[in-house]
Amino acid sequence: MGRGPAVVGFRRGRPQSAQAQFAREQSAKEPSGRSASARVSKTSPQTAVALGERLARYGFPAGHPFGIDRHGAFQREFEQRGLAGRVALLEPARASEQELLWFHTPEHVAFVRRSSELGQGTLDGGDTPCFRGVFEAASDVVGTSLAATDWIMERGHRRAFVPIAGLHHAARERAAGFCVFNDCAIVIESLRRRHGLKRIAYVDIDAHHGDGVYYAYDADPDVIIADLHESGDTLYPGTGSETERGQGAAQGTKLNVPLPAGADDGHFGLVWPLMLEHVERHAPEFIILQCGADSIGGDPLTNLRLTPAAHHRAAVDLARLAGRLGHGRLLALGGGGYERGNLARAWSAVVEGLLEG
Ligand SMILES: [Zn+2]
Repeated sequence: MGRGPAVVGFRRGRPQSAQAQFAREQSAKEPSGRSASARVSKTSPQTAVALGERLARYGFPAGHPFGIDRHGAFQREFEQRGLAGRVALLEPARASEQELLWFHTPEHVAFVRRSSELGQGTLDGGDTPCFRGVFEAASDVVGTSLAATDWIMERGHRRAFVPIAGLHHAARERAAGFCVFNDCAIVIESLRRRHGLKRIAYVDIDAHHGDGVYYAYDADPDVIIADLHESGDTLYPGTGSETERGQGAAQGTKLNVPLPAGADDGHFGLVWPLMLEHVERHAPEFIILQCGADSIGGDPLTNLRLTPAAHHRAAVDLARLAGRLGHGRLLALGGGGYERGNLARAWSAVVEGLLEG
């Protein structure tokens, strides 16, 4: 996928065959060499936000929509709203190669490492340009999502938000759609291998279907997926029809909710309760929310017209749901969003939702 000029493939719907489900390695819990270093302000908040220069470096050059200014756009709004004093601030961290290999193939990891030294061409044949240092930048996104996961797992009823993360298109064996390594999937692997959890929910309200996560766990009954997105008829990657409900023993554990171009908060209000119900019915032990801001009206790459109120509601409702499930564990990952004001408002609304829910 993604052949042709930069970005064009990402904008267009392009049906794609489902990828094979890879057998998940069985392995014992593996310890983290990382300590989730938190700068905790005032009392001891139950909500954390990751921020830092190393996270900001994940972005593409030369006017690419996924530029390195996205982190700063969020940080300014986050600080203006006074949110920095209400949360624990987490430092970015780097994933180890072993952690990348929990999900990705050795060939893909080696390819990104080699390409990163050269800094030329693209990583996926079109949409995802290579730049010098992309291996380290992508490893920092993954490591930060893992550090936020560790922080949540240290104590009950904790939530966290990681901007820039939520790189849901990367497949096990390749980069795709601006996503080099799939931190969402590596968090799922960490929750199982390091933290000993079994049933995990992945909720995705980015305008694009989260194909990298979906097809990796299509046949896995313990990954509960609820994914709302603009229909594959009009948007990349062209997948995620409502008939895709999971394979084999996983049938019924996945819920795809394609929305027509132009869908707004009214549409969201109709389908969101069904997504919540789907997640609650399966009683996951941890909830991941990929809260891409490209589903907000005015995004240059998509055609949905939600407002940040939808993202706020998603965060509040999932935080409350996690509370009802008895553990309160919720990790929100920023995802897409190419209009800077939109992503700043939507992601800040998510942080507010985590604090309120
Ligand atoms: Zn997106």
